[in-house]
Amino acid sequence: MHSLADAISSLQKHFGFDDFREGQREVIGSILEGKDAVVVMPTGSGKSLCYQLPAMILDGVTLVVSPLIALMKDQVDALRARGLPATFINSSISESEQRARIDSLRRREQKLVYIAPERFRSSRFNAALQSIPISLFAVDEAHCISTWGHDFRPDYLRLRGVIKSLGRVQTLALTATATPYVRSDIIQQLGLNQPQTFVSGFDRPNLSIEVVHTERERQKISHIRRLAKTHSGSGIIYTATRKAVEQVGLKLQSAGLSVSTYHAGMPDSVRIKAQDNFMSGRTQMIVATNAFGMGIDKPDIRFVVHYQMPGSIEAYYQEIGRAGRDGLPSTCVLLFNYADKNTHDFFIEGSYPEFKVIKEVYDTLAATELRRIELSTAEIAARIGERNEMAVQSALYILERAGHIQRTAPVNREDRRSRQGRSIIMLDSTPVTKLRIEPTDVSRRGELERRKLRAIIDFCYTDYCYRAHILRYFGDRQYERQCGTCGNCRPATAVHLSDPDVEDHKATPSAPVDVTPRALTDDELLRVRKILACAKRMNGRFGKTMLVSTLRGSAAKQVLTARLNELSTYGLLKEMAQDEVLSYVDALVEARCLRVKAGAYPTISTTELGDRVMREQEQIALALPLNGHD
Ligand code: ADP
Repeated sequence: MHSLADAISSLQKHFGFDDFREGQREVIGSILEGKDAVVVMPTGSGKSLCYQLPAMILDGVTLVVSPLIALMKDQVDALRARGLPATFINSSISESEQRARIDSLRRREQKLVYIAPERFRSSRFNAALQSIPISLFAVDEAHCISTWGHDFRPDYLRLRGVIKSLGRVQTLALTATATPYVRSDIIQQLGLNQPQTFVSGFDRPNLSIEVVHTERERQKISHIRRLAKTHSGSGIIYTATRKAVEQVGLKLQSAGLSVSTYHAGMPDSVRIKAQDNFMSGRTQMIVATNAFGMGIDKPDIRFVVHYQMPGSIEAYYQEIGRAGRDGLPSTCVLLFNYADKNTHDFFIEGSYPEFKVIKEVYDTLAATELRRIELSTAEIAARIGERNEMAVQSALYILERAGHIQRTAPVNREDRRSRQGRSIIMLDSTPVTKLRIEPTDVSRRGELERRKLRAIIDFCYTDYCYRAHILRYFGDRQYERQCGTCGNCRPATAVHLSDPDVEDHKATPSAPVDVTPRALTDDELLRVRKILACAKRMNGRFGKTMLVSTLRGSAAKQVLTARLNELSTYGLLKEMAQDEVLSYVDALVEARCLRVKAGAYPTISTTELGDRVMREQEQIALALPLNGHD
């Protein structure tokens, strides 16, 4: 058995480093103990050492699967320059050279080999692997195995079989993607054996994180004005839509602030100029959609504001990560209004259309009996009576990916600009009942996005340390403490609705929000009291979903196992739909009658205010949509 002492001496001898970076010691220790592991660390934090160093110590060969073919040669050259015997096998080298390299691995002349995932398509290659003494199987960019992600590579799905055929060789999966769903997918799809998961390096101690609950657009603008005045450096204001970029940009400009605006719908020249102005400091702020940020490495961004909440904690953390790259203190403020959820619901609905919509779009195309069809998205939407044009666009995209249709690119620039001249080619005449699309695939993805949205809403309502909440969501359980710098750790500076410090708190809204708190009807009040009573009886031991399921009298296994069906409040709202009950629960959380407590399993409980409302000792207004049973 190899020890950590071997690792430390190898670190100095082979790599010339004095010490491990955060996380490396634990990972390498676990590998030397022979265990499977998943390593999640941000890019540039030193993941490669986690397999390169064990490779030098272990007896056999370490095989590294990597999709980054273009980098393999450089990686191998760098290792060789340090005197580490390494090689690579990918499509850039000839068949005979591949064979020669496999022979040299067989003779144990190399300690490490990088392999491109498509090599495993060849059964001859897989057979050749059997004769190589492999000690460790490292899967780099392991998120490529997850169909949840945008980097999905089908070749990665073969790896499970390869690992099995190598006698369940010890396996290490590495990724910079910290989404919990992706992580569990990696474990499942690779068939890892009781792996330990290591998440580290995601904390950005110089960022202070704050969520400000706002009700009116005016409050949001005045908050940004205050930030701009109190911070001399640059700031990014993220909005959820292009339209909001334009509107917020105008409002800030007319308030006399120095701002550029940026979104993907602007002409290239205007967009590039906006970016230049911001990067050079000619404008203090840039109001932008999430199209702004990729590859932006301005080190001195002092504040990032989210004018509307982003769609997930992942997106949020990536976007605020652009602040304070120079390590100096920087401020991140999320201006939360529950009504902004509607924008995301609309996006999700549009991006993951119901199968019915996909079929209707296909039917409409087939009914033309043409091979080349000149119909715009708007025209198709009108024909099938779909209001969300984005859903039609997504349906076309899904049909294209399944190989049923092909869309031609617009021929000239003018057409491209006006989004005309794009025609649809029918590639086959499959009957609509035989489409090569898995309906659950689309709905599963939509459901995942909804889950992520719920997670960011829970984050906005937590009264626990914001930093700890995020890091724990990513699986970094080492971070259990209070950071001391976020809005919840220093509540004195947090601005809430009733805070007199908000200059124009009482000002009339410049744009009415979709769902504002309102007085309740008697029926609604009764439902609210039922929900609070049920939450009270569940004693803060369960999450939101369990509360809703119990109220709806669900026979789900978890509900029955926890014997929640024995509560007097079980099934009290069985006539209501899941979403409806959920909107009540969310509104009660927003009104601070219920509290979500963060953790690996966030729980929900009643507050003092909630108790008073339940006992009819206090009246409240709630942000409930105007529909339901009344
Ligand atoms: P990742 O794969 O996580 O993106 P790399 O493995 O490429 O990151 O590492 C980034 C850089 O950090 C490399 O230049 C590497 O040599 C360096 N590095 C890794 N571990 C250490 C260490 N313990 N001490 C000093 N430098 C390190």
